[in-house]
Amino acid sequence: MRNPLIAANWKMNLGRPAEAVEFIRRTRRGLGEPEGIEVVVCPPFTALAAVADALRGTRLRLGAQNVHPEPKGAYTGEIAAPMLEGLCSFVIVGHSERRATASQDETDDAIRRKVATAMAHGLTPIVCVGENQSQNETGKTQEVVGAQVRSAFVGLTEEQASVCLIAYEPIWAIGTGRAATPADANRTASLVIRGSIADVFRQDVADAVRVLYGGSVTAENIASFMAMPDLDGALVGGASLKDDFPLLVRRAAEAKRG
Ligand code: PEP
Repeated sequence: MRNPLIAANWKMNLGRPAEAVEFIRRTRRGLGEPEGIEVVVCPPFTALAAVADALRGTRLRLGAQNVHPEPKGAYTGEIAAPMLEGLCSFVIVGHSERRATASQDETDDAIRRKVATAMAHGLTPIVCVGENQSQNETGKTQEVVGAQVRSAFVGLTEEQASVCLIAYEPIWAIGTGRAATPADANRTASLVIRGSIADVFRQDVADAVRVLYGGSVTAENIASFMAMPDLDGALVGGASLKDDFPLLVRRAAEAKRG
């Protein structure tokens, strides 16, 4: 059984501790203690400690939005996995907003090392994969996403691979209001993502990995994604900053319960 999960990617918003904590208080009032679904909040680094305090004693979990591939060293301004250990449970790795930015040097190799260093320090990676618009239009989704998944998992044990999460985020769907269809997202999750994991490991590892969909998820469309058998949740950007985020989470849990 794969436990459903909604991850909130706040991106570069709510980074001041006071505003982040205020938003968490409001969200918690709307959410109560969510049943049958895990909720992970990923604030900017500047608000992590304050949000960690605000979440203490609740079922909500904390995630970071990035981690450096190296555990220490002369990397001015970067955040290493040991700095997050004990503070966060999850970390987003390879978000397309970072992969797409040349200055971030977010190569497949860097992502593989980020996954390994996160796991070595008790952080569960949420590995983002996805094709861009032209790759989608020229039928390259399978090739691109398959290669991203296989590369991110190189060197992991079966046990480590099983607990990683993959977020399938078609780049053309992020922040555009143009979500993938649930059927297409499910097909990529099943054939490409679980298929690639099964090639590298075994089918039971592929069946254990939780696959999220990300890209213009809202409280209105979440149920249709959660109804898909190979989608276990969502990575939510813009809609995670709205007052109806608790409604989105409730609908996700209800849709998965069936
Ligand atoms: C994201 O940033 O991971 C994302 C999916 O954004 P949005 O939900 O705004 O499309």
